[in-house]
Amino acid sequence: MAQEDVFKKIVSHCKEYGFVFPSSEVYDGLGAVYDYGQYGVELKNNIRKYWWDSMTLLHENVVGIDSAIFMHPSIWKASGHVDAFNDPLIDNKDSKKRYRADVLVEEYLAKIDEKIEKEVEKAARRYGGAFDEAQFRSTNTRVLEQQSRREAVHARFAKALNESDFEELRQIILDAEIVCPVSGTRNWTEVRQFNLMFATDMGSTSEGAMKIYLRPETAQGIFVNFLNVQKTGRMKIPFGIAQTGKAFRNEIVARQFIFRMREFEQMEMQFFVRPGEEMEWFNKWKAVRLAWHKALGLGDAKYRYHDHDKLAHYANAATDIEFEMPFGFKEVEGIHSRTDFDLSQHEKYSGKKMQYFDPELGQSYTPYVIETSIGLDRMFLSIISGSYTEETLGSGESRVVLKLPPALAPVKLAVLPLVKKDGLPEKAEDIVNMLRFDFRCQYDEKDSIGKRYRRQDAIGTPYCITIDHDTLNDGKVTIRFRDTMEQERASIGKLHEIIAEKVSMKNLLKKIND
Ligand code: ATP
Repeated sequence: MAQEDVFKKIVSHCKEYGFVFPSSEVYDGLGAVYDYGQYGVELKNNIRKYWWDSMTLLHENVVGIDSAIFMHPSIWKASGHVDAFNDPLIDNKDSKKRYRADVLVEEYLAKIDEKIEKEVEKAARRYGGAFDEAQFRSTNTRVLEQQSRREAVHARFAKALNESDFEELRQIILDAEIVCPVSGTRNWTEVRQFNLMFATDMGSTSEGAMKIYLRPETAQGIFVNFLNVQKTGRMKIPFGIAQTGKAFRNEIVARQFIFRMREFEQMEMQFFVRPGEEMEWFNKWKAVRLAWHKALGLGDAKYRYHDHDKLAHYANAATDIEFEMPFGFKEVEGIHSRTDFDLSQHEKYSGKKMQYFDPELGQSYTPYVIETSIGLDRMFLSIISGSYTEETLGSGESRVVLKLPPALAPVKLAVLPLVKKDGLPEKAEDIVNMLRFDFRCQYDEKDSIGKRYRRQDAIGTPYCITIDHDTLNDGKVTIRFRDTMEQERASIGKLHEIIAEKVSMKNLLKKIND
């Protein structure tokens, strides 16, 4: 099935099974804003908990805060967001569609990469075991041609972005003959800058009102509380502050479902270090964060690092962790070495000292910062995409199953009486009452057992527990495993242990702590 079709199916699956709904749907929706449904919110909460616990339980020098969404407007002047939080936009005059100019070029580069990989795959099939990939890549004329085209465009692109040269950016689009996917033409406008922050007024009188912004990132709330936390928590450098919460960006192009939203949630951690030690910590956090992703078991090959061509005004190193979404490898998390930029700027704009006295060195300095910043909604999308599976069963039937990491699954077990009589529902309810304090359980007695299994597969429930007539005599139930569909008899007294083994967050956290 084409990846595009898979993505469409994932979007409709999310809606049909209560994971994600378009916001304000009865009014035809609101661009790039989404609501999470009954299962979506559970999955989202579990992802957030996995992140929060991994930060604050596994690192004794990382603590959390929860700062307000509204902040003093000078913060956004100091951080550079008022002047520089812009995206380059370009319109196609025929289709009237708006695009991010940088994304058009990035997609063009990704297409060249795809062509090269196809050539390599084709040759590998042709030559079989005798295939020498390195030699093919360095000698095949078609590959070399594509490679040099890519490098030329890439070099110009990186330079144009770094120098904020928008005429050149437009010229690259023209020279590469990039067409609008809708109209198919190359009739492009100039490239213009567009600030992504939402603004509103705070205060009741028009004279007294103050223009404030909805935060476009949660990080600044951490920076301005850096000394509050350091002093009240008696924190010693190196230490980190973690925070999760909503962020808002007036994105130019709202596409790809919850990948790019105008209201979304971030999970960010700022780690304060001695100046000069930042690269060591940058590399350490890169590894820690990748291990966190991989522990979910969606497949190591689905992740890769992507180093930035353009460094943000505050960074001296930056990498993304990308996940292979149905529409290609895309950024899920950014890891940035932000130098002392933010703290120094707040010191300058607020007039308050933002320095730390290092008792070991006997001197004060402005700490350097390593940031890990992940979008909760993008993480959600990566997990759903990596878990969504269509299977044809031996009987000729098919099933859709979300092979969610069990610790993140919205419902951990379903308890199903085989029939609605003979005391089986009562027994099932006893089991639910026994397990509901530790695991989210669902009781279901409607329809055939097969249909009930399918419903649980579709929402990713790792275990189904079936109660039959024998249960009343031998105290045993049938456990059915979601991924293998294998079934096993187990005594009711053992259920807690069996389920906890797979679904507990503790075991997931232990994997990354080893
Ligand atoms: P992009 O280049 O895709 O716009 P970014 O580099 O601007 O992303 P950051 O500012 O580094 O993103 O934000 C950190 C994380 O926040 C991203 O890795 C992503 O997971 C998430 N994020 C950023 N913008 C959005 C958005 N509009 N919708 C959902 N998640 C987002």
